[in-house]
Amino acid sequence: MSGDRYAQLVNAPGLSALAGGLGLPRPVELDRHREGAPVLTGAVLTGAAPGARLERALKANLDRIGVERAGAEGKAKALVFDASGISDSTELVELQRFFYPAVGRLQRNGRVIVLGVPAAEAGSSRAATAQRALEGFTRSLGKEVGGRGATCQLVLVSAGGEEQLESTLRFLLSPKSAYVSGQVIEVGKGVAPLPDLDWERPLAGKKALVTGASRGIGAAIARTLARDGAQVVGLDIPQASEELGAVTAEIDGDAIELDITAPDAPERIAERFAGGVDVVVHNAGVTKDRTIAKMPEERWATLMEINLSSEERIDDALLEAGLLATNGRIVCVSSMSGIAGNSGQTNYATSKAGVIGMVEALAPELAGRGATINAVAPGFIETQMTAAMPVGPREAGRRMSSLSQGGLPVDVAEAIAWFASPASTGVSGNTVRVCGQNLLGA
Ligand code: NAD
Repeated sequence: MSGDRYAQLVNAPGLSALAGGLGLPRPVELDRHREGAPVLTGAVLTGAAPGARLERALKANLDRIGVERAGAEGKAKALVFDASGISDSTELVELQRFFYPAVGRLQRNGRVIVLGVPAAEAGSSRAATAQRALEGFTRSLGKEVGGRGATCQLVLVSAGGEEQLESTLRFLLSPKSAYVSGQVIEVGKGVAPLPDLDWERPLAGKKALVTGASRGIGAAIARTLARDGAQVVGLDIPQASEELGAVTAEIDGDAIELDITAPDAPERIAERFAGGVDVVVHNAGVTKDRTIAKMPEERWATLMEINLSSEERIDDALLEAGLLATNGRIVCVSSMSGIAGNSGQTNYATSKAGVIGMVEALAPELAGRGATINAVAPGFIETQMTAAMPVGPREAGRRMSSLSQGGLPVDVAEAIAWFASPASTGVSGNTVRVCGQNLLGA
């Protein structure tokens, strides 16, 4: 909530009750990950609809993660419901049967996860209909529990995905997913064998490239991947040399001063990673807002080069040279605007929707190479960019979400670290919003 004066004010002693009486939103301070902290500080209450397909896998994963189970009464930090057995709309009432008594037990900053199967694998049109219905339930429940700082997601597990759930459950149950809510995430069979992992340093021994790493979200990504053990190479334009040097020095990383739109950029990046790269994070991006009626071609073209075309060329160069390692990762940064559209951002939204297209198009090809590609789509994140917005749109951006506040750069970085984890081999082709369930494009 740093920089969010309103949230600090309405949560101040003495003013909190007044704000409540006036019906003003009082954003809950979100728990964030602290080094060495357990995945979950509280018990998990589990439930399942008859015919559940994931019960055994869920139990095995929760045992491995080491979470405490909730009893028949008392508070729960997380609710996990296996809805994979629901095969007819008449059985959706199982959601009501579990959540009606359970939701009141959910603690502040709690987590809700509903497990289902992709409609295409549901087995019949009735089952596919019922499984698709889970999305409406999950998104609504996210809005109902958001006032408590709690989140709610739907995880669709396809055949073979049962074995791949651990990294996703760890992320979604933990404070690392503080600003992710109302999302539908697909977990499938892994693209590479699951490695043995030190969960405190899952990226130990891995090489990562982060573009736009000198500040804002990119700096947070570089720090978070380094925290997880990666050897990070931060890239930014030569004009950002000093800030980039400060970030990479702090994390014992290396710096590349390079404009990603330079004609030789793909070649120079490929040369720098001649020995291979494990994680590529395409974070560098710009806005150049104007309505289309006032948009000169040059303004459109410069943005498209930075936000989309150069990423495609860098991917091509690394893939053609076979430099993306087995179980490698490409992670892209899209935007809520790329999903919802935004007046004055036809160029930006086009580029960010294109990023989602790139993820969807490349995921099958990368699966063949034992690698994954995913994107995050941030909503309102507290950065220099959003601090500079006029007060009206800035306040609307913060409050128009289930969590009634902006996210922090680290929230985006944590989602990227989850995608980047060598254990996320079953997570590919996803675009996950880190937006506190913002109402735009919801
Ligand atoms: P920022 O402006 O603070 O950082 C962007 C970085 O990219 C800068 O360091 C910049 O120098 C670098 N960069 C720009 N053009 C480059 C080029 N040609 N070559 C190399 N580096 C270049 O922005 P941010 O808020 O940290 O955003 C990071 C990413 O997140 C962007 O892709 C942005 O579109 C996306 N995003 C941000 C928000 C938000 O609320 N801040 C919301 C949605 C999406």
